[in-house]
Amino acid sequence: MPSYRIPSDDRVRDSLVRILSTRPMVDSQRRLKQLVEKDLKGDEKYRVGEPRLRHLAIESGLVDLEIRCRDTEEMRSLIKCPVCGARLKKVRNMTVYGGTVTLGYRCERCKYWTGLKRRVPTRYIFTRRS
Ligand SMILES: [Zn+2]
Repeated sequence: MPSYRIPSDDRVRDSLVRILSTRPMVDSQRRLKQLVEKDLKGDEKYRVGEPRLRHLAIESGLVDLEIRCRDTEEMRSLIKCPVCGARLKKVRNMTVYGGTVTLGYRCERCKYWTGLKRRVPTRYIFTRRS
């Protein structure tokens, strides 16, 4: 059975710097994972989970993230951002009766947004921040 090591946050960030220095854009999360694992590979093999890699990439400030989503019919309230884990802000509108109505949610950290019908992320595009 092959054994894999889990790289530290610092090693993943260093790897992201190297990868982004040679290409301005990586057009999927799976591709980014492959690139990082290949970059870290030496005598030992490394594994990095895709959600963890995405969180580290967002926190690093190295990339601008484009989030592609598909629409669903699912209506469910959201607290945490499904992309980066930050707390979501409600998007509200005033009603004619002076109250407010929730229209959806948005994330101030990664720019994910959704209406009450949930938008589910399907693809991430990582672009080097200039
Ligand atoms: Zn977010």
